[in-house]
Amino acid sequence: MKIHEYQAREIFKKYGLPVPNHVLCHSVAEVKEAVKNLDRLVVVKAQVLVGGRGKAGGVKLAKTEAAAVAAAGQILGMDIKGCQVEKVIVADAVDIEKEYYVGLINDRNAKSVTLMVSAEGGVEIEEVAQTNPELIHRFPINPQTGLLDFQARDMAMKLFDDMKLVRQAADIFQKLYRIFIETDSTLAEINPMVLTPDKQILAIDGKMNFDDNALYRQPEILAMREADEDELKEIDAKEKGLSYIKLDGNIGCMVNGAGLAMATMDMIKLYGGNPANFLDIGGSSNPQKVVDAMNILLSDKNVQAVMINIFGGITRCDDVARGLIEALDTIKTDIPIVVRLSGTNAEEGLALLEQTGLPTVSTMSEAAKKAIELSKR
Ligand code: GDP
Ligand code: MN
Repeated sequence: MKIHEYQAREIFKKYGLPVPNHVLCHSVAEVKEAVKNLDRLVVVKAQVLVGGRGKAGGVKLAKTEAAAVAAAGQILGMDIKGCQVEKVIVADAVDIEKEYYVGLINDRNAKSVTLMVSAEGGVEIEEVAQTNPELIHRFPINPQTGLLDFQARDMAMKLFDDMKLVRQAADIFQKLYRIFIETDSTLAEINPMVLTPDKQILAIDGKMNFDDNALYRQPEILAMREADEDELKEIDAKEKGLSYIKLDGNIGCMVNGAGLAMATMDMIKLYGGNPANFLDIGGSSNPQKVVDAMNILLSDKNVQAVMINIFGGITRCDDVARGLIEALDTIKTDIPIVVRLSGTNAEEGLALLEQTGLPTVSTMSEAAKKAIELSKR
């Protein structure tokens, strides 16, 4: 789950990170109210769940009431990477001497939460990682000790010489680590963390992602959820008893069992295709689940073919076939579908499916090849 910058700022503040004040506004009128008799520099910032707002024109400095209102007028309604800007923050702006990057992620290779810092802040860190990976300093954090004082200072010394600043930065790293752990975060990023001319270190942008599987014990985080379109679909699927994750490919997959769903995606890749999703309909053959699953799959405009891959164990293939027939009766679609049934009562199931005219196969590789072929028509 992702949250907006303004929400990350609120969490940061709660944990005592130095963050300039902000006001959230949903309209130009609200901005006008917020900047009445403005006598300081502010920054108007688009609140959307994508990065790179600065480059897209979604971050504007303003010194007067009129300039702030004009900036808000330009930013509200703007399209940034497919996201419409519906709200902005007006934040106290700061003078910047230098911008830094600070981030915490789960590093699967290091098998631990890893602190990353870089003096190349402000720009998108993915770019730095590509072009100058040596400019990003990494420190895998031992989960049993957490980020110890000397370790935090050691990392801060990669960015600052002045011990006063090293202590400020180290404190920020440790607080960010506490936030990361206590909120079941998967990403906590300050980019940029800035040094001001009067030698203050401040967090002026925040990005946080959270582990969806931990949200049940994070009611405060869950309450912040403003799902985007893809996330709404995933939440909807969860409520219907399906595990669905949208991906970027064009072959929709409907599978029973998580392991088989993974294997199906691998198989599609193996033959040169790209899965549009992970979808596990679970062990039951309830037709409603098939209908729900198909509706979710087909609502993805990228899907050009669907591969249904069922292995009947406890689930009986003839039940699944009946469910499919019932489902396909309700869903009228031109998207080609290939069905692979194998296992318990597969023959009965395949016989039932004959009346639908759908191509049926009995091995996974045939199904993957067929789906890829159909997707190219
Ligand atoms: P992002 O582009 O979506 O990551 O948005 P950021 O909040 O990181 O802002 C982008 C850039 O705008 C920053 O890297 C800064 O260079 C600039 N910026 C943001 N806030 C301020 C501010 O208060 N003062 C100044 N001078 N520049 C700012
Ligand atoms: Mn940023």
